[in-house]
Amino acid sequence: MKRRSTSALPRPRAALLGLIFGVIAAPALAAPRVATDVAPVQSLVTQVMAGVAEPSMVIQRGASPHSYSLRPSEAATLENADIVFWVGDELTPWLTGALDNLAGNADSVALLHTEGTLRHGVGHEGHAHEGVDPHAWLDPVNAQHWLGVIADTLARHDPANAERYQANADAARDRIDGLIRQVRGELEGVHDEAFIVFHDAYQYYERRFDLNTVGAISLSDARDPGPAHIAEIRDIVAERDVQCVFAEPQFNPAMVDTVLSGTDARTGVLDPLGSEIPADGDYYTTLINQLSGRLVTCLSAG
Ligand SMILES: [Zn+2]
Repeated sequence: MKRRSTSALPRPRAALLGLIFGVIAAPALAAPRVATDVAPVQSLVTQVMAGVAEPSMVIQRGASPHSYSLRPSEAATLENADIVFWVGDELTPWLTGALDNLAGNADSVALLHTEGTLRHGVGHEGHAHEGVDPHAWLDPVNAQHWLGVIADTLARHDPANAERYQANADAARDRIDGLIRQVRGELEGVHDEAFIVFHDAYQYYERRFDLNTVGAISLSDARDPGPAHIAEIRDIVAERDVQCVFAEPQFNPAMVDTVLSGTDARTGVLDPLGSEIPADGDYYTTLINQLSGRLVTCLSAG
């Protein structure tokens, strides 16, 4: 635990007030200060902490988390945190050093690395994500597992609210059970429709819901693809009866036009971080629903 700055009150008086408030409002005072990295994690933690306190998200919405520069206020959030929940260094390599420097005393929980998380290797050689594909929140079964990890961690820091954290996590897991059933039903008719995604971020979703992705335009999160890879993708579009090529709001849309030109494929937008969805407790369900909705809209339009 980090030492906190105390009020300007003389020490005995502050101690007395602390004692009084400690008795009257123990749960609120004991609530740990929690930081998160990206919206999916923020949403899960928000749900588990409901009725106790709210976590603070570090990475700005709409930016790619793969490369990012912390603003001073975001660095301060890390410095003040008792617990940091984040995906892991495969998603945000730059954050590892920042956590060491700024949040060295905080309990750092890299969800991707927790036991019981389903992990897939990266699909393509030369992709920026070495080893494990970090976009693991797109498998709702991982989200369910992480709810338990989050609740256990919070309960350890804040035993007074342990029951509430566990009850909140249970309710959120049930909600995701319903979400999985609903999305399965929605995607029923499009399992065989071939499509291309912008960056290689969706395999957790594709595998969970049995979809037919046949390629990614960008093999790296940082760079535009080279002409050879674009030519390869254009061949796939022609040969595999590709129905849709999906753009992503964070990346260069001109690439999608290049891939599409002269083909009958349609276009849509997928966003693995649902940038325009408010990052609240409902975000996670909305994100998973948005992906299925956009896939169905484009894939069944032919
Ligand atoms: Zn990515």
